[in-house]
Amino acid sequence: MHEALESIYERVLSRNPGETEFHQAVREVLDSIGPAVDKHPEYADARIVERICEPERQIIFRVPWEDDDGRIHINRGFRVEFNSALGPYKGGLRFHPSVLLGTVKFLGFEQVFKNALTGLPIGGGKGGSDFDPRGRSDREVMRFCQSFMLELYRHIGEYTDVPAGDMGVGGRELGYLFGQYKRITNRYESGVLTGKGLIYGGAQVRREATGYGSAFFVEQMLRVRGQSFEGKDVVVSGSGNVAIYTIEKVHELGGRVVACSDSCGFVHDRNGVDLELLKDVKEVRRERISAYADKASSATFVGGGSIWEVPCQVALPSATQNELDATGAAALVRNGCLAVGEGANMPTTPDAVRVLQEAGVAFGPGKAANAGGVAASALEMQQNASRDSWTFEHSEARLRDIMIDIHARCHRTAEEYGAPGNYVAGANIAGYARVAEAMLALGLI
Ligand code: NDP
Repeated sequence: MHEALESIYERVLSRNPGETEFHQAVREVLDSIGPAVDKHPEYADARIVERICEPERQIIFRVPWEDDDGRIHINRGFRVEFNSALGPYKGGLRFHPSVLLGTVKFLGFEQVFKNALTGLPIGGGKGGSDFDPRGRSDREVMRFCQSFMLELYRHIGEYTDVPAGDMGVGGRELGYLFGQYKRITNRYESGVLTGKGLIYGGAQVRREATGYGSAFFVEQMLRVRGQSFEGKDVVVSGSGNVAIYTIEKVHELGGRVVACSDSCGFVHDRNGVDLELLKDVKEVRRERISAYADKASSATFVGGGSIWEVPCQVALPSATQNELDATGAAALVRNGCLAVGEGANMPTTPDAVRVLQEAGVAFGPGKAANAGGVAASALEMQQNASRDSWTFEHSEARLRDIMIDIHARCHRTAEEYGAPGNYVAGANIAGYARVAEAMLALGLI
């Protein structure tokens, strides 16, 4: 790490004790922006890095709700409004039992740089709750979402802070959240949330955008190496929103996804994942991934093993943070993997990133590779503001252009700063430079 950044990192550690994922996310950025710090002493004078590491606002609130048997539950809600130099705070809500303040801060911090990379006018934020929607009835999820919004509504707005979905928050949850916002405020303010259903102000391709975008980004990384998805075996971890639409696009681009997973294990389908069956199991029936193997004779379910042992030329971790460790990365390298693209946020541990980069595997960090979701959200905001709605084809073409631009920006910046082929450095420096420039222009606020 650059000498000038070491003391800043030490201060982040001491001011945010125990928030290990946040520390990891900050460290990854500070480790790579040294060359930009040298090139722009004016940023240091304005203490831009210190300010970027401190969220503008952190909101924590109680969320009481009643289950179907009349029992009362208390969860905790969060919204971290990290940086609004480039536009309103923008970033998803995560409902998962593992969510702590540090989780939301790591995700919000990543989001600031990711949103800057899209070139669109959006700041960074993130939120969520330790509520677990899995196994809950629709009515329980609705009561929780209504209680959550009863507090959140006062902090958000189309010009202030615009949440979207993330893990555990899909179309169903966003519908209940939007309904409650509308009821409390008596305003049909479509631009306050993104990822909405098409019938009430949503946009084509938002649901598919993170997964499609990740496939488009990796397509570009392969292209630089004179390769494509055509004929390649691909492993995609997870089987949620990001994973499903990554698989859909990889198949369209000529690849064959041979394995996917959930938190109970993974399925290996030697004929390639049957997407219709996967959607039926995960989106319609909301079953465990093992149900896929029960219904597909070419598939086997492996409980508790490592999906990264499945031989592939491309791996797309698309489930959760720190799911791909050094052992998994070594297995990928051993089996001849050429490229890894992070569909999830920070799914690859720092050790694993090192293993992959040292072996010459092309590595696309999440803040670049999965930026398609937030980019499509910004396009949804644009359509809401102009009361317009674009076709699927037009929206997908816009998304693809944005991903090609993000790839080019990361690639070019890495070369400019003496780290050719290093997308981590390229993404961090390009994102940092854009946010820093805006912060400098806005003065000390
Ligand atoms: P979903 O809730 O739709 O899906 C998450 C998937 O990951 C589920 O299949 C889940 O399985 C699985 N999973 C969770 N924990 C583990 C684990 N420890 N091991 C293996 N699998 C696990 O979430 P999304 O698809 O929306 O999000 C996935 C990732 O992508 C997250 O990191 C998110 O922050 C990131 N992301 C999402 C965006 C979006 O637009 N949705 C945008 C950008 C990034 P189970 O059902 O068993 O929990």
